[in-house]
Amino acid sequence: MSQHPLIAIDIGGTWTRAAAITGDRLGAVHRAATRSDDRDAFLADLAGLVDAVRREESRPLGVAVSVTGPVDPATGRLYSPPNTGDGLDDLALGDWLAAHTGLPVRVDRDTNCALLGEVRAGAARDCRNVVFATFSTGVGGAVLLDGRLLRGRDGVAGEVGHTVVAGDGPLCGCGRRGCLEAVASGPAIALAGEQPNGQRVSVMAAAGDPVAQRALDRARRSVIAACVDWVNVFNPELVVLGGGVVQAHPDWLADAAGAVAREGLQPARRDCPVVPAVLGDEVALIGAAALFEDAL
Ligand SMILES: [Zn+2]
Repeated sequence: MSQHPLIAIDIGGTWTRAAAITGDRLGAVHRAATRSDDRDAFLADLAGLVDAVRREESRPLGVAVSVTGPVDPATGRLYSPPNTGDGLDDLALGDWLAAHTGLPVRVDRDTNCALLGEVRAGAARDCRNVVFATFSTGVGGAVLLDGRLLRGRDGVAGEVGHTVVAGDGPLCGCGRRGCLEAVASGPAIALAGEQPNGQRVSVMAAAGDPVAQRALDRARRSVIAACVDWVNVFNPELVVLGGGVVQAHPDWLADAAGAVAREGLQPARRDCPVVPAVLGDEVALIGAAALFEDAL
């Protein structure tokens, strides 16, 4: 593990956070609202956060960034993040940070960083073949094979939320019907359960409401089927699931592990646990730092 001091930054839809990090030891976390509809304001805030970290860590060797939404990891240029204002569209974030700091910069999307964080210090420690998925406002994912992130031509491989699990299911934000995200994200469960949010669907289902129960059951079956699919396609040694939806339904993990063991292809289904993500808010900062592994 790299022991070089770095500036780690996590750009989320609501907050942008920054901290010095050495190995997996985080310094004080500074944060600012992500003013993503105003590029100048966003960059001014980002500069302020970087400068605040530099007052604590005067000799960082690089800047490691986790960002919500798709990004070209080779250049650090953002595509059009779906959960942010249009001030970040096509932003050359890597170049801007390199110019501002004079340091080498690595940028990757939040799910890739979260997977690396779990490998480095969480549920997937020391694993080399992992499928990671997070179920919250959306469904995101990342895949590590043979110790390397699966990236693809444009750096967006591993986005497991937009595979169809229910052919005639609800319309997804991406334009298709029945994506995993359109069935098993928090907002999707709320919509199907005819409740204001996913938590409320859980309460109503427990009270016997059939609409809420159907919504949850469809989401549960989709998560289980997706896990078996991932085991068949990627042959991981571990599947890690995170996000509020899975945290609220820990029994889905055991159901998914059982389905993998029964229904997965041989020999991929052998001994492939499905476990919860264990790191909290700090996962993206720790994982981003791992982007520099062996690179300095
Ligand atoms: Zn979709």
